[in-house]
Amino acid sequence: MPPQKRNKAVESLVARIAATGPVSVADFMDAACSHYYAQGTAFGTQGDFTTAPEISQMFGEMIAACLADAWMQAGKPEKVQLIELGPGRGTLAADVMRTFAVWPDLAKAASLHLVETSPALRDQQAKTLEKYPDVHWHERLEDVPEGFTLLMANEFFDALPIRQFEKLADGWAEKAVGFDAEKDAFFFTTLPLEDIAAIPPDFQDSAPGSVFETGPASLAVMETLAARIEEQDGLALVFDYGHAGPALGDTLQSLRRHEYTKVLENVGEQDVTAHVDFSALGAAAGNALVHGPVTQHDFLGALGIAQRAQALAAKASPKQRMDIERALYRLTAPSEMGHLFKVLGLTRGQGRIRPAGFDATTDGSAR
Ligand code: SAH
Repeated sequence: MPPQKRNKAVESLVARIAATGPVSVADFMDAACSHYYAQGTAFGTQGDFTTAPEISQMFGEMIAACLADAWMQAGKPEKVQLIELGPGRGTLAADVMRTFAVWPDLAKAASLHLVETSPALRDQQAKTLEKYPDVHWHERLEDVPEGFTLLMANEFFDALPIRQFEKLADGWAEKAVGFDAEKDAFFFTTLPLEDIAAIPPDFQDSAPGSVFETGPASLAVMETLAARIEEQDGLALVFDYGHAGPALGDTLQSLRRHEYTKVLENVGEQDVTAHVDFSALGAAAGNALVHGPVTQHDFLGALGIAQRAQALAAKASPKQRMDIERALYRLTAPSEMGHLFKVLGLTRGQGRIRPAGFDATTDGSAR
């Protein structure tokens, strides 16, 4: 095993484990991810992974169309808070702002609010968005000023810390991370489970070896988001990879330079994520109306991504045409992002917005 690089995340985890014993998987993930995103080197071919907006401008264009349609359904409010959670390099926000120019009243109404904790990524976002004057940064969604809300979050929830529980021969325990000073390596272990209520009743009798995950931080954000949509009206679109229903399984994973790695190695230097449980997110949405989840394939298809690809290709060079084809394939093919990635929409419970893209029977052209 390669020695752990002594960065701040490793130092603080090692000190904490030495003082009080193993930390929960959630605390481990929190320390590792905060350090990782703070460096701002995650994205693109030079980085560790590539996200949908980094694949093609078409992704942001479809999202812009869906958000603009919701704005029109709501009667074109004159003030719009366009919010993005975890904007990465700012690519999606830039594509959406650019596309909003198609609807000048919307472009004029929209202020952009980016919820981002990493200072290095805030700098990158500011560069990407430098031609837009009305951009604001916030630590938390709670800090965004009130107003009609159009919100997007792509691969944000998968980066929030999860707790993991494991069924042992003698019952459920919480998975935790310890540190072996001699081997200079982190290792998985378990802590006694304080409260069996953490495990849904249907899963309590599962076979030894089963793993159950929850995302307390994700659920808290979802509650805040749903309350905001209820109060301010609007539409929120959440894109992520994960499962539509409750499921067992260890989905903690890490990526470095586009390769899967071991979660407990390169701590703070690689991307650690978990699959999103969309049913749990939906259940945290209170009185807000939940749309989907539908697959990214169905959502982008219903919004007309194939037609958009054709229109772009008609004006493109042969090389660009191949890139467009390839991007369409990566975004929508079931074997690529099409099926694993899902889209969840949130609108006001008693509101009139019916977001495009969630009805498998629509083709995006008529509503
Ligand atoms: N949406 C982008 C980036 C996804 S990576 C894309 O699709 O390319 C996750 C993003 O969420 C990063 O920008 C990271 O810095 C940010 N992030 C992670 N945890 C966060 C938190 N608790 N609050 C705000 N932003 C966070």
